[in-house]
Amino acid sequence: MNFNTALLHKSFSGEKQTGATVEPIYQTSSFAHESAQQLEKVFENKASGYAYTRISNPTVSSFEKRIASLESGACAVACSSGSAAAAMSLLNILESGDEIISCSALYGGTLDLFSDLKSFGINVRYVDDAAPSLIEPLISDKTKAIFAEVIGNPKLNVIDIKSLAELSHSKGIPLIIDSTTATPYIVKPIELGADIVIHSSSKYINGGGNSISGVIIDSAKFKWDFNKHPKLKKYERFGKLVYTASLRNGLWRDIGCCLAPMNAFLNSVGLETLGLRMERCCSNSLQLAKHLEGKGLTVNYPALESSPYYELTQSQLGGKGGAILTLRMGSKERAFKLINSLEYATIASNIGDVRTLVIHPSGTLFAHSNESAKKSAGVYDDTVRVSVGIEDIDDLINDFDRAIELCDK
Ligand SMILES: *Cc1c(COP(=O)(O)O)cnc(C)c1O
Repeated sequence: MNFNTALLHKSFSGEKQTGATVEPIYQTSSFAHESAQQLEKVFENKASGYAYTRISNPTVSSFEKRIASLESGACAVACSSGSAAAAMSLLNILESGDEIISCSALYGGTLDLFSDLKSFGINVRYVDDAAPSLIEPLISDKTKAIFAEVIGNPKLNVIDIKSLAELSHSKGIPLIIDSTTATPYIVKPIELGADIVIHSSSKYINGGGNSISGVIIDSAKFKWDFNKHPKLKKYERFGKLVYTASLRNGLWRDIGCCLAPMNAFLNSVGLETLGLRMERCCSNSLQLAKHLEGKGLTVNYPALESSPYYELTQSQLGGKGGAILTLRMGSKERAFKLINSLEYATIASNIGDVRTLVIHPSGTLFAHSNESAKKSAGVYDDTVRVSVGIEDIDDLINDFDRAIELCDK
């Protein structure tokens, strides 16, 4: 089954009971059972069924199944936000004293999260480039996970998932990949060796910018060593699914960062057009990036030949550079002027909407980061981030041309 067909037919073919062609929204907090014995069995994982929406819900399960199959994973756990997914994917296996090695080119909110973890005794060691040669010397007995974004938001660096997976597996460490900006339309990190994939599904998966959510997808292929990750030992009986069993029965459930059924429904509907939207967004982005570079602007986009990640974008991402580009305007004033002059680009701190969005990341998404962290994340005082939507490309190009002319006045 090819990608767009799979979006519609692979893991959902309507609801059996009523024939509903889209997921019904089970907007309920709890589920009634025939007997006390039956509910006890559900709680003990001895019978299938639903008990309480913080733990599981049919609308949410349906979304989880769809995204797991799209990512070539075994199962998925949906979360209240992408940030919750990032936090839970790590806290599920970490203890005080543990370390993570991460590429420093991260979403600003993830950098904030990682600094929050310090007070729980969890330390993050950063590398400027996710090259195995830079990561290997930092690995110690304390290292319990390697974390990176496929296409860093907003540095737009591309990581080599295969070589990172080889290194991390040779050291018995799981590779956790944030694939928000790539989506399974561009790459399926599990097929290249990633062990856990997370998304802020608030972005491209939802697609319409109408709800916050996240998801953790488990490859169920990593060989967990309970000496290294002792928290998982308690769930040993779940075999290959030990990581997800620990999430579902442990911290994820106890913290209560579950996804609301309504938002799961909106994500499932959005997911069906992911291929069409990404095809259009990637094509618009490449055309806009080429046009702006042709005008002499400093444009960063992984599928441009001038990008240091061009080769890897071709070999690993099938030439698709995603739907974000950044521009360096020469000064903060010019950056603001461009942002304020665009007619079709909405000023908003989101990505992955159908409409084009624009932001000055330094003063917003990276407001809590120091100068060196900003630089490592590719954020400068004159950087403008554009999340390219599905508008007609001629209109976008004309809009940027007009706004750039105003900057020079
Ligand atoms: C937005 C984003 C997040 C955080 O997701 P929320 O849904 O906003 O909590 C994490 N990683 C990346 C790459 C993002 O773009």
